[in-house]
Amino acid sequence: MFIQEVSIDINSKINKDELFQEFNLLLSFYRDSGQTQGRIESQYIDNNRIVSLPYTLEKKSLDKKNNNIYVNNWIKKIETLSNSLISIKTIGKTMENYNGCCTCEKSDFFILMTNYVSIDSPITCGSCNQSVPLYRLPQYYDFGYMPILSWETNYQSCDRLQMNCEVGERWSLNQMQEINSQLSKQGIEICKKIQELTKIKTFYFLYNYKKYKADQSDRPCPGCGKKWNLKTPNDYFYDFKCNNCNIISTFSPNS
Ligand SMILES: [Zn+2]
Ligand SMILES: [Zn+2]
Repeated sequence: MFIQEVSIDINSKINKDELFQEFNLLLSFYRDSGQTQGRIESQYIDNNRIVSLPYTLEKKSLDKKNNNIYVNNWIKKIETLSNSLISIKTIGKTMENYNGCCTCEKSDFFILMTNYVSIDSPITCGSCNQSVPLYRLPQYYDFGYMPILSWETNYQSCDRLQMNCEVGERWSLNQMQEINSQLSKQGIEICKKIQELTKIKTFYFLYNYKKYKADQSDRPCPGCGKKWNLKTPNDYFYDFKCNNCNIISTFSPNS
């Protein structure tokens, strides 16, 4: 991923802590517009300067053309309060050979998926298996992608509980692997809406850590009961895919 430096010099008498809070809000708006990843940026005051270092999927994720109305309004507000202009520059990459995310002209399909450590986009491209920046999709709700990001953090919270094992492990695992759980229902609704907006088939990734006595390959789709085993697993690592229920999954490692 790319690491950007978003900064401003303070050329006014504004209280720095107040401006720091406004800067924080700007970073929330960048997150909701899908331009930054993970909400784990460092932010600090350095003499007369406020600096934030967010992660982005593309070098140009913070380009004006990807800003929504909230980002633009907050940039204007901060620039007025500090009597100076915001500066944005790319300062590094997380991996030397990181080349960015999905660049497919048109994806065959999308997958809604994440995990407790991911700071990628919750949308994966079915053609190249890479992250799709949210701002490439039509705006989802209130000029941004809040409901998708809220499903993402719900999923990550469940995944963290099941990884930690001691509190709510069974409950959180079931949220992730049962098609009728609240978490799955929320995700499947999001997939439907993304498909409506983009006209690209959108699958929900159903986690699978179930115990099976019989051969897993014969396991029917948990939604419609039909066969959903991919004869040859697709190019990446998915073993099951149901085109009726729009869910995709893998063999359980727990058998
Ligand atoms: Zn792609
Ligand atoms: Zn099905």
